[in-house]
Amino acid sequence: MPEGISLAFHGAARVVTGSKHLLQVGSTRVLLDAGMFQGPKRLRELNWQEPPFAPRSLDHVLVTHSHIDHIGYLPRLARLGLRAPVHCTPAAYELAELMLLDAAHIQEEDARYANKKGYSRHDPALPLYDTKDARRALRLRKKQRYNQWLRLDRKGRLRARFLNAGHILGSSFIELSVPLGEREIRIVYSGDLGRFEMPLHLDPRGLRRSYRLEDIVLVATIHDNHIGGRGLALADGRARPGLGDADIASHLRPRGPSDKEKRRHGERDGDGDLDQTPPAQAKHTILGTNCSHR
Ligand SMILES: [Zn+2]
Repeated sequence: MPEGISLAFHGAARVVTGSKHLLQVGSTRVLLDAGMFQGPKRLRELNWQEPPFAPRSLDHVLVTHSHIDHIGYLPRLARLGLRAPVHCTPAAYELAELMLLDAAHIQEEDARYANKKGYSRHDPALPLYDTKDARRALRLRKKQRYNQWLRLDRKGRLRARFLNAGHILGSSFIELSVPLGEREIRIVYSGDLGRFEMPLHLDPRGLRRSYRLEDIVLVATIHDNHIGGRGLALADGRARPGLGDADIASHLRPRGPSDKEKRRHGERDGDGDLDQTPPAQAKHTILGTNCSHR
């Protein structure tokens, strides 16, 4: 990682839930997704641990979509002091309200039931967060349109934009432009990617840019990965050992779009060059981040 930039994985690494990735550029701290750990008890217990970063120290939260393993930790962070804006697309904004109020309700009901039956080790059993916390988190939301660059630092050199991921309503992957001295690098965070040619979703957006050696792509590797090579048009699929799923290379090998996809993208974007296999010299560092939904 270049000097002055750090990226820490606090979930969805070797497990499929709890997506939380902390990007720090200079003094600006940006959290990519704020997901809750779900599944076995040993994972759910991670939600109760003190966060590995001070919620109040965050400057921005960017969320890719409103599944609980990507936003379900927001009320907990809000309870613990999060004040930063939570940026998301307009549809993700609306869905977040349904999802977080429902998640809070479930937490409250579980605690109530545990107290009634007396099976909790804790007396009284408490919810991870309640409806008040969910409302506190919801008030932090800010709607961001697809494809529009959002300034994240004072000079406007750290920027991000949401691009359609075709996964659920309002889902996105996030492209960040990160200053590195006089230059910039790009970081792409996939969130969960959808599939092509599904009846109820737009296809995932392609990336037009030729990426460079120092650019970083974090890509979901558990599900929907059969479309990976088409979805983001990644290059040689090198995986950094020890992070995420190991079988990235076989899924992300360069593979151009089908003729049908070319026609569809050509029609919509006025050029047929999206999602093409990138130039032979392009190389990316690809870090796998796992996710759970289909
Ligand atoms: Zn999802």
